[in-house]
Amino acid sequence: MAKKTAVVTGSNSGIGLGSAHALAAAGYNVVINSFTDRPEDHDLAKEIAAKHSTGVAYIKADMSKGDECRALIDQAAATFGSVDVLVNNAGIQFVAPVDEFPTEKWDAIIAINLTSAFHTTAAALPYMKKAGWGRIINIASAHGLRASPFKSAYVAAKHGVLGLTKTVALEVAEKHITSNAICPGYVLTPLVEAQIPDQMKAHNMDRETVIREVMLDKQATKEFATVDQIGATVVFLASDAAAQITGTSISVDGGWTAQ
Ligand code: NAD
Repeated sequence: MAKKTAVVTGSNSGIGLGSAHALAAAGYNVVINSFTDRPEDHDLAKEIAAKHSTGVAYIKADMSKGDECRALIDQAAATFGSVDVLVNNAGIQFVAPVDEFPTEKWDAIIAINLTSAFHTTAAALPYMKKAGWGRIINIASAHGLRASPFKSAYVAAKHGVLGLTKTVALEVAEKHITSNAICPGYVLTPLVEAQIPDQMKAHNMDRETVIREVMLDKQATKEFATVDQIGATVVFLASDAAAQITGTSISVDGGWTAQ
């Protein structure tokens, strides 16, 4: 049987990179992506390919632009022959009170964290329908289920991702294509690292206090989740064992949303 191909958006760092490694280790061809086109991006693809003995390509596409989102999927299919698993992971964050929230930051967060998943999903579904099998896995967030102050755009986008996830699941339910979301709590990645100075400013606290009392306040385990744990959840949702899991979300949040 031909190898399946997985496309992971925003995957030269953090959770996307962890998911790309996990999918490559599970035997998928993998397309990794970001908006840059540096030698190190292509080297990263070679590194993952060599480590897991599978096909890996880096394709540049800016997830804030609809035409580039769709082109990513078509280029992935042209490279490996199919798009079987789509992981919508690209995301950015910005923290400010809603009445001071810059409009351009709102627009960028909605475009990258939500609208990109609409475009990539719309472009990938014809390939999945043709193959009679597919997996759409959206990296949402505990903030798809709960709110925190100062994150209006991010919380709105992630709630939107869960709505998109459920709607797509219903539309393709009889085609052996599933659509699910993963809702991580805090995972210590560059995105989270970059929030710490803003949170320190917003809460007037030092780094350690912000981590303990603000970031991990709701995470009952008081531990960050890891990119490997999110990657393993992606691989599970892509597996045949998860064929009857669709239109739902799996929280990997150390008990945050149990509260
Ligand atoms: P990260 O900053 O390490 O990675 C984000 C990735 O998105 C990078 O590869 C970056 O290059 C890419 N990206 C950003 N803008 C892009 C664009 N315009 N086009 C293409 N790619 C773009 O962050 P992360 O923590 O790994 O976050 C990944 C996803 O997980 C995001 O959707 C984020 O909201 C979600 N998430 C993260 C956490 C966490 O605690 N880290 C928790 C819940 C959800």
